[in-house]
Amino acid sequence: MQEPVQHRPSLTDADLQFDRDHIWHPYTSLADPLPSYPIVAAAGCELELADGRRLVDGMASWWAAIHGYNHAYLNAAATEQLQHMSHVMFGGITHPPAVALARQLVAITPASLDAVFFADSGSVAVEVAIKMAIQYWVSLDKPQKNRLVTIKRGYHGDTFAAMSVCDPVNGMHGLFQGAVRPQLFADAPELTPEQDWQQQDIASLTQLLEQQHQQIAALILEPIVQGAGGMRFYHPEYLRQARRLCDHYQVLLIADEIATGFGRTGRLFACQHADIEPDIMCLGKALTGGYMTLAAVMTQRHVANTIGQGNGGGALMHGPTFMGNPLACAVANASLALLTHQPWQLRVHSIEQQLRARLLGFNRYASVADARVLGAIGVVEMQRPVNVAALQKRFVEAGVWIRPFGKLIYIMPPYVISRQQLERLLDAIEMVVSDTD
Ligand SMILES: *Cc1c(COP(=O)(O)O)cnc(C)c1O
Repeated sequence: MQEPVQHRPSLTDADLQFDRDHIWHPYTSLADPLPSYPIVAAAGCELELADGRRLVDGMASWWAAIHGYNHAYLNAAATEQLQHMSHVMFGGITHPPAVALARQLVAITPASLDAVFFADSGSVAVEVAIKMAIQYWVSLDKPQKNRLVTIKRGYHGDTFAAMSVCDPVNGMHGLFQGAVRPQLFADAPELTPEQDWQQQDIASLTQLLEQQHQQIAALILEPIVQGAGGMRFYHPEYLRQARRLCDHYQVLLIADEIATGFGRTGRLFACQHADIEPDIMCLGKALTGGYMTLAAVMTQRHVANTIGQGNGGGALMHGPTFMGNPLACAVANASLALLTHQPWQLRVHSIEQQLRARLLGFNRYASVADARVLGAIGVVEMQRPVNVAALQKRFVEAGVWIRPFGKLIYIMPPYVISRQQLERLLDAIEMVVSDTD
């Protein structure tokens, strides 16, 4: 880390009290908030607390900071773009960062995806993808095909259409009953990538599509890794067959690669584990290397053309204020250049090897239900839900940043993490799983 700069912003006790009293954090109560730790700087694979302690980061800020924090090349891209313009409206205007980014995305995503819609967050990208799918069928005079099918245990974001395809239990549909559109849910895949394929695993999805395809616009799923819905890994054959079923029953396939995109699973996109190409793909999270919010929806030409020539005037009816934000696009361009010009496969692979060598062994502890690894993702599923606040405190005391949820203690560090730093994350996880026995 660099030397501390003078006048580094800090947080007083009064600031922290104000935070507790007035600011919502993700999925917390304002009446009885979980503690928030004051972070004043971050660099490489470390977060710096206000008191100067440094924590090894195991979360990449929720899949996003793949190159680590405060990266000179990404900083330079943002600074450079600031000299030209930080934002300009995208209606009736285009600009170099958006065109350059769209070119890169068309080049690196599966070959058939060649149209780009820039959205402002992952959830909005999912909304747009769903809207595209529904508008596609309206354009083809089949407005009755307007429902979504998905698989249980999924997570697709927190806005309403996205929430409607999240797992009905984890996704808190009960809380918003009547406000969330009822969709169709197939059983979650049970077979892991290591197990032998059995046709039974996709029977539930097959049956739903067979019986209800006339009212289904699209199948939406997270390829290979179900993230926030339970950190589950499933068999690539499931995905291959899902693609075939969609073709057979005339249903679009939406791959939500917001978490899995940009190398996290060991392939640039998780769809590539099954060699399939979705009709629509959502990207987000790591798109800007974790610098700022930006998402993209990629589609095949036939989807874009059908919407463009169909009923309803041909315009795709979406257009956020900050669409294609130049500053975010410039940083995303730099992040993709870093990714594609560096040996990310080797880094992800070596993280995977190190995780496999040690984390899989945590299966021996009685407190652990299942330890699993895929790419640069390590998951320890405990027998019982963890006490998030207590565990978080122990992790911070051990010098690491790991944020558990439910029964899950999991890490997906920046790809630049060193062997020693990763060992520290694993030491900390072993400390808590071994003594909760
Ligand atoms: C995080 C996530 C989203 C939502 O993205 P936001 O940027 O948080 O709105 C959607 N789908 C998946 C798979 C995600 O992991």
